[in-house]
Order: sequence, then structure tokens, then C-alpha cells
Amino acid sequence: MGLAAHIAQWSKDPSTKCGCIVVRPDKTIASTGFNGYPQGIKDEKLDIRGYKLERIIHAEMNALLFLRERPVGYTAYVWPMMPCNRCAVHIVQAGISQVIAPIYYGERWKSAIEITRSLFNEAGVAYAEIYTNLHDNPLGAGGLPPREQQIGAENGQAAPRSRP
Ligand SMILES: [Zn+2]
Repeated sequence: MGLAAHIAQWSKDPSTKCGCIVVRPDKTIASTGFNGYPQGIKDEKLDIRGYKLERIIHAEMNALLFLRERPVGYTAYVWPMMPCNRCAVHIVQAGISQVIAPIYYGERWKSAIEITRSLFNEAGVAYAEIYTNLHDNPLGAGGLPPREQQIGAENGQAAPRSRP
């Protein structure tokens, strides 16, 4: 999770810096991604929300696009919150087996994350939303409590028991 948070800092988005790492069952890294415009598109108007949202690629989507193998059995670590519903459908379809992300305390993405949970539950993607002590939370919406402790928000499938 720390590495996902680190990669998120590479994002040029001034408001929400997101990172995603796809990890193989043997703990090696298959792919990484952060949120940003597609290649060839100038990094401009990142402060204009409407303009940005129509053009940006989310961290999870970038990580999926850079995968060179089918990620069945793989885990996606996502920072700083659960994937939005649009990323979730692609995560399901790509074959990712498990998603781990910090708990989201904000309002803006709350309903999207609720759809994500229902998609993951129905499709059989295990997920866990965790407390983390990573204080450099760039989201700004609510922040994160100063400790890391797993809470079981998984859907009943095999879920990690220790910190990622
Ligand atoms: Zn997304």
C-alpha cells in the first residue's frame, strides 16, 4: 500500500493523486499506474475539474492498460481509496482477483464506491478496505486515522489478514 501511495505522488493532478499496483501471487509487481492524461496529451487545465475529468485516465485503468499478462489471481493495491465503478467494471473484466484500498471518508466518490462494492460482490472479486497510517494522504477529504488496522470489509472470499 505504501508503494501505491508513493506512485500516486507521480500524478500531476493537483487535487487527487491516485496510484495502483497489480501484484502477482508470488508478490512480484505486474504493473503500476497513476492518474493522468493519455500519452501525447498536454498536462494543461488540470485545475479545471470538468476539463480534466473528461480526459484523465484513472490509476487503475492505467495499471490495467500496462499489464502484459492476464491477472487472474492477482491483487490490485489502490491508493487512496477503492476504485470508482467505471474502473471496477474493467478490473472485473480483466480478471483481477482481489483489491485492497484505504477506507474512504469523503463524500464525492461515496456512491461510486458503493457500486464498486456491489460489482465486486456479484462478480466474486475479493476486496478489503483498510485503515492505514500513511499520513501523506493527498485526498484531503476526511484524512485517514493514525494507525493501520485491517477491518474485514471483504466479501467472504480469501482476504489478506496482515497489512499489505
Ligand atoms: Zn476510476
